Amino acid sequence: MFEIIAEDHLGRIGRLRTRGGRVAETPLFLPVINPVTQDVPAGWMRENLGAEAVITNAYIILRRLRDEALRKGVHGVLGFDGVVMTDSGGYQVLEYGGVEASPEEIAELQEEIGSDIAVPLDIPTGLCSREKAEESVERTLRNLEATIEFLRRRGVRRCLWAAPIQGGIHLDLVHRCANKEREMGFDLYALGSPTPLMEEYRFDKLFQMIYAARSAVGFGEPLHLFGAGHPMIFPFIVALGVDMFDSASYILYARDDRYMTETGTIRVEKLDYLPCCCPICSKMSAAELKQLPRNERIRMLAMHNLHICFMEVRRVKQAIRDGRLMELLEQRARSHPSLYQGFIEIMQNEDLLRLMEENAPISGRRGVNLYDEMSLRRPLVRATRRRLLENCLAGRGRGGEALLLPETLKLSLEKASRLPENLDILFYGSPYGLIPLGLRYTYPLSQTNYPKALLDECLDELIAEAIKQFEAAGYKGAYILKPETRRLEIFEKELARRLRELGVEVRELESLKELMSGSGGGAGRNV
Ligand SMILES: [Zn+2]
Repeated sequence: MFEIIAEDHLGRIGRLRTRGGRVAETPLFLPVINPVTQDVPAGWMRENLGAEAVITNAYIILRRLRDEALRKGVHGVLGFDGVVMTDSGGYQVLEYGGVEASPEEIAELQEEIGSDIAVPLDIPTGLCSREKAEESVERTLRNLEATIEFLRRRGVRRCLWAAPIQGGIHLDLVHRCANKEREMGFDLYALGSPTPLMEEYRFDKLFQMIYAARSAVGFGEPLHLFGAGHPMIFPFIVALGVDMFDSASYILYARDDRYMTETGTIRVEKLDYLPCCCPICSKMSAAELKQLPRNERIRMLAMHNLHICFMEVRRVKQAIRDGRLMELLEQRARSHPSLYQGFIEIMQNEDLLRLMEENAPISGRRGVNLYDEMSLRRPLVRATRRRLLENCLAGRGRGGEALLLPETLKLSLEKASRLPENLDILFYGSPYGLIPLGLRYTYPLSQTNYPKALLDECLDELIAEAIKQFEAAGYKGAYILKPETRRLEIFEKELARRLRELGVEVRELESLKELMSGSGGGAGRNV
């Protein structure tokens, strides 16, 4: 029912197939639809945005549209033939303190109305004390057991069933809840209670919660995130392993006269221009938008906000295909200081980085762009350095000598063949460390772009990496060719100094001619 078709670190593109045979591609954004009053109809979203899925509320259907839904099915009620997920009413518990329905009643309704993805009645944790959080987890788990027992008695399932993970900011509770659910036989997982964290911009906590849930349930089944709020966090949640997410923000923000962009939100009264080319914004100016009657303005804003959400999901998917998801995170982290803080904490979480490293792409269709110190923490950079060290460089020197050439040097095969055979050729000045000649044109070594500023700012780290690799290789001496441009001047001097400090015999060369034999000469090497 879930097939992964592309991966980039922990982010993935997958194909979800429901029991009714409907198919949707993940990462999947599900706009929240109120079944009673659709401000923006689900059918419009399908036609104009290519929406493959929406989410609606089973409790509202039970209370207000039960007979119609039993007759027409939930797809009929919504006028939407894509994937329909139904939330159980847990949100109503959070908002109003309780629902008048049993877990069995809610489960039966979701099966009967033909929901594609159903959620058992859960008790959202929200932002609360540990005691209350514990209680919400225990009550949720009891409801899940009752639901699973009900489904067992009933026999054939029509819905895919998602296990809601509660526990909130109490990460050990998130872990415990998720672990218990693994044994229960659900089809996918859905992490609850992020909304209060997002409203307070506590992205660091939110990311920790997602990581706790994802690592507890493993990477097989899809993970949904309830109430994923703003598109500025979409790249982050996907990079942490979230496959699906819903949000009502497009309409809630619209009612509050807030205009979404992929990096933040702008109040309509402060808009002098509409910084977007969606069909809505292309048709009118900011002044015209402000002058619309309130209801019409809400509808236009909601449609624009939806465009922004769907655009960002597509951007995230393309980034996964290109192996550039982490790069997108680096860019988006600059949207807001709290998001940046959350990002920094991701990049400082050693367990998470190791997990990402294991899933770092080994090939990519597009190059890698590095910018600064933060880029060097990328799992891809770490993984490449580790692979270089462990698979290529360790023990390579065997007490011999290395010829270190500047990374910027173009070395023709003909030239290389005239260099002494006993010298192992490596290139210095790359963010990945020392690159053996034979690996020079492999991913990502040859497709990495970076400014000279990175070399200057991170000189110490880059030299330390090269030294570590040189030592692990076990060379006793080195020739270093001075760079022909200023880009690597400081780097070369520092590398030579540090190697000498280590007692390595270093000879700096002005030109390769000092080492070359005549054309086809006897001292030449096989390349
Ligand atoms: Zn727009």
